[in-house]
Amino acid sequence: MGMTSTFNRQNLSEFDLIKQYFSPLGSSHDAITALGIGDDAAVLTPPVGQQLVISTDTLIAGRHFPLNTDAFSIGWKAIAVNLSDLAAMGAVPHSLLLALTLPQADADFLAELTRGMAAACQSYGVHLIGGDTTAGPTLTLTVTALGWVPTGQAVRRSGAQIGDWIGVTDTLGDAAYALCYPQSGLQLRLDQPRPCIAFGQSARPWVHAMLDISDGFLQDLMHILTASWCSAQLELDHIPLLPQLKSLPKAERYALALTGGDDYQLCFTANPEHWQALENAATEAGQTITRVGSIISKQVEAFCLYEEGKRVDLADLLNPTQANFDEKPSLGFQHFK
Ligand code: ADP
Ligand code: MG
Repeated sequence: MGMTSTFNRQNLSEFDLIKQYFSPLGSSHDAITALGIGDDAAVLTPPVGQQLVISTDTLIAGRHFPLNTDAFSIGWKAIAVNLSDLAAMGAVPHSLLLALTLPQADADFLAELTRGMAAACQSYGVHLIGGDTTAGPTLTLTVTALGWVPTGQAVRRSGAQIGDWIGVTDTLGDAAYALCYPQSGLQLRLDQPRPCIAFGQSARPWVHAMLDISDGFLQDLMHILTASWCSAQLELDHIPLLPQLKSLPKAERYALALTGGDDYQLCFTANPEHWQALENAATEAGQTITRVGSIISKQVEAFCLYEEGKRVDLADLLNPTQANFDEKPSLGFQHFK
């Protein structure tokens, strides 16, 4: 689509580029995909008794990944962050669309980008069913992820109940740590996040509310509290951390773990009776879960923080010197802020 072919001054035309790099990420054998890449639109046959779960996320160079990120990781990450949203709904991922804007059609870059995409597609059993390719000033990838969930069973943010335990998968703050300490050896946590697809699906029957942590744990937890109209008590010393984070000064450790972005872990609430089932689901998925708090009351969407049994204030924790005492601490990343 367009007034003139967008790549007509490059060696690779828009159409060559799609055929060479993106068509191979499609699939020819799939009961659902009646028609994939190559026509004006894809055609899917929805499985009986399932609902379509669909989500889209944009990655802009220099904003959602550092400008020096390798092309393989960019391809992986564009897919992984979108599958993370499906994981949070408890959905089975199926396929993807990619709207790609490229400053130039560089063959080496495209080969690595699509190698990273193919690796993610293979790891999570999804394929590309379409997209759009344009030339533009900034490398931008918008992926739309499609998945299925048995009718009525998608896990929402709004189901948390008083007495629920609040849990998170694996560890928090790893990616934020990698961003701050580029030599840390944790770079893959930032560049190639691993969406909790298997756990999300097997947790589905046992959780009341769930979301993926992408913009900072506290800010994302607030979404559950707001949607469920309830409040939470968090035990900060229970937040699961890698040793690297544990050894940081407290203010920095909590800033990374509570407000750092790009975790792509799941946060969920569940009746304590179902905790063992969730632990089993996590083990089966090769992950761990940790209880970090409880849902304590209805009506007020807020959280209170405890450390070693004592009530603590977020502003004091993140800013112990009180240098900016007028500023409310930020709970996480927000655009336009
Ligand atoms: P149209 O001009 O009708 O929108 P396009 O020429 O943009 O069609 O795309 C041709 C086919 O290639 C379509 O099936 C489209 O979904 C697919 N496609 C284009 N770009 C991509 C991409 N980056 N990744 C996957 N499929 C793509
Ligand atoms: Mg098009």
